Amino acid sequence: MLNPAAAARRAIPSVDRLLNDSRVAALVSEYGRPLVLETVRAFLDAMRAESAPAFDDSQFIEYCTRELAKLTRLSLKPVINLTGTVLHTNLGRAVMPKCAAEAVMRVMTQPANVEFDLEGAARGERDSHIERWLTRLTGAEAAIVVNNNAAAVYLVLNTLGMKKEVLVSRGELIEIGGAFRIPDIMSRSGCRLREVGTTNRTHLKDYAEALGPRAGAIMKVHTSNYVIQGFTASVPEAALATLAHDNALPFIVDLGSGMLVNLEDYGLPHEPTPREALANGADLVTFSGDKLLGGPQAGLIVGRRELIARIRKNPMKRALRVDKMTLAALEAVLQLYSNPTRLKDELPTLRALTRAPADIESQAQRLLPAIAAALGDKATARVVECASQIGSGSLPVDSLPSAGIAIEGSGKNKSSAAQRFAAAFRALPVPVIGRVRDAAFMIDLRCLDDEAAFVAQLNELKL
Ligand SMILES: *Cc1c(COP(=O)(O)O)cnc(C)c1O
Repeated sequence: MLNPAAAARRAIPSVDRLLNDSRVAALVSEYGRPLVLETVRAFLDAMRAESAPAFDDSQFIEYCTRELAKLTRLSLKPVINLTGTVLHTNLGRAVMPKCAAEAVMRVMTQPANVEFDLEGAARGERDSHIERWLTRLTGAEAAIVVNNNAAAVYLVLNTLGMKKEVLVSRGELIEIGGAFRIPDIMSRSGCRLREVGTTNRTHLKDYAEALGPRAGAIMKVHTSNYVIQGFTASVPEAALATLAHDNALPFIVDLGSGMLVNLEDYGLPHEPTPREALANGADLVTFSGDKLLGGPQAGLIVGRRELIARIRKNPMKRALRVDKMTLAALEAVLQLYSNPTRLKDELPTLRALTRAPADIESQAQRLLPAIAAALGDKATARVVECASQIGSGSLPVDSLPSAGIAIEGSGKNKSSAAQRFAAAFRALPVPVIGRVRDAAFMIDLRCLDDEAAFVAQLNELKL
């Protein structure tokens, strides 16, 4: 007679025996031996932890099949952004047009002339593919592209301000979400921050007084994610440019979100453009590719040719450069800007921002019955007015009138019901991300592009 513990051990089959099973062999051929081994061992470990383990063959195969499918599901996947924030940093900021995706696909699976001049024997320049568009669209002499705007600011300061003082108003010492702080990026780039003026008021004479023998540049930072109201004063770009140039210094503008067209032409609040900053006398302007511009993550530097040439020679440019996928997407997006009248229809960011509230509301009315049906008696849904935001630090105080659907629990604890609904929508095959507001789960429909796909998965909603 075996004692009970020994009998239990005997009930646990060996790994080798299990791997010899033809169904397990099929999994090995599909998923590879290492992952199958890991899964089989996890199953056996769980069995050993039981007090009276009994091996169940069909349970084992089902576990392996399920776990392997789960393990190999891609972690990065599309979601439906119904948060009301058009450029949501945590949801990957700008949604790109199909033409950008196609351009990426083409160069991704084949060699491409990234740094190869097809017309001559010279080595090509990586930035040339986008420079021709950026110079046209901003009026700049030259342009460079790097990993993101944080990298652009770093590279500009590291090239022009190393061991020198860079003057910035105290009202512009910003922090952007995700720990981008102007003072930190300055010290990492090797230049010394020379704070000018006060938080709410900075005058031209404050800059003039701060200009010493070690001054390397004057910089203006667009306070993209906040506004200072009340008793305030700041110095216009043109006056700062004149002061900088009178002292033989470059004037740098960090715009953050660089919109290449005038947003007022599309009925939206004004956002400063690189063209305006350059026209005001800026020598270099930095901005993001994936904010209002609506392209891939990138940092763009435009401005004077000789300064761009110096930046290009900085060894850190190599460390911060973009790959061919980013170049391809950016080129395709910039090219869309060459036709401003079609831009609104072809650039998803601008399309979402310019949607008429009435159009969004009729979409909400159209979707209401399907949503109500999916909720059954667990919750009620109604069409509501709401306010969307641009996001990513653009126009922080301006909101765009929009419409959506508020989903509310029928029980007493509405807040916890709202959290449950948010989780249920997040658990859909293509996760739907909304927000919880006033004890309701809210979806803002401004960014809902593929209505049919949204409706098609509602029957999988598990409340
Ligand atoms: C967003 C922003 C940055 C950082 O840009 P990333 O592309 O996110 O690196 C820098 N400066 C300003 C003013 C910004 O708005």
